[in-house]
Amino acid sequence: MYNNLIILHKKDVDDAVPYKPRTKPPELITLELLNCRMNFTSQEKRHYLSLKKGYEGEKQFDTLTEKLQCDCLILDDLLLEVNNTTFQIDSLIITHGNASFYEVKNYTGDYYYESDKLFKKPNLQVVNPLHQLSRSETLLRQLLLSSGFNLSIDSSVIFINPEFTLYQAPLDKPIIFPNQLNRYMNELNALPAKLTKNDVKLAEQLVSLNMSDSPFEQLPSYDYDQLRKGIICPNCRSFSINVVRRKCICQDCGYSELASNAILRSTKEFKILFPNEKITTNIIHNWCQVVPSKQRIRNVLLNNFTRSGAHRWSYFE
Ligand SMILES: [Zn+2]
Repeated sequence: MYNNLIILHKKDVDDAVPYKPRTKPPELITLELLNCRMNFTSQEKRHYLSLKKGYEGEKQFDTLTEKLQCDCLILDDLLLEVNNTTFQIDSLIITHGNASFYEVKNYTGDYYYESDKLFKKPNLQVVNPLHQLSRSETLLRQLLLSSGFNLSIDSSVIFINPEFTLYQAPLDKPIIFPNQLNRYMNELNALPAKLTKNDVKLAEQLVSLNMSDSPFEQLPSYDYDQLRKGIICPNCRSFSINVVRRKCICQDCGYSELASNAILRSTKEFKILFPNEKITTNIIHNWCQVVPSKQRIRNVLLNNFTRSGAHRWSYFE
């Protein structure tokens, strides 16, 4: 195991792969699909957009950490639990005997800090990420101690977006602003010390404790009848798809793909939205709308899924 890890150390590769990379949260994937197929309430829309913006900010931060050349291990997006309390870490970097972790905020606009509170101008109070940070730090300390690791921990709030301004920012709080990020990364890069076996063990331990199912998911309620059916153009998200011989062509942007690809993609979207529904030729035929031939749908399902059941009760898994 230890030998396998060596290749992931920053010195050995140019564009370093994070030890635990970030993947798009299932909640965001589902919301993106739903956003095309139903009307969100304004609250649902706000939640979707803030999740999307947050994820984009985290990816933006990843482009910086992935350029690090110092000996470190990067763990993105950890969901951990200690004493029945769940907490999330956007990004964690292990260097020699130290774990630094980050709460990344993709805020834009003018904010101000007053009496330990954060406001968006003119007077909208928002969650103070410094409070989230100190909560996570306490919990991470408990977790590391209970797992037998004794190393230093520090944490920072990263404001990643250059369009963000914070008035009356406190001097004594761990905040890194967009125009300080390059300097911060250079400081990390200048760390000379090498990772120890214990540091690598910590990374292994954190990844093994990471939980995959988020308890914080907020999906709107929806059912099959309510959703708009059809194939969505992967390029411009339009429903204006024509089937021309073996191809699906988007009338809005001209994007063209094999109909079999489009059917498979739409079937996968159906599976994400309705994980408990059985996949049948009839239902995917109805879901895609624009493919006249049921046989063509059936062929795609036969080629990509396993058939169960017999005759008209058969379905695909
Ligand atoms: Zn298109």
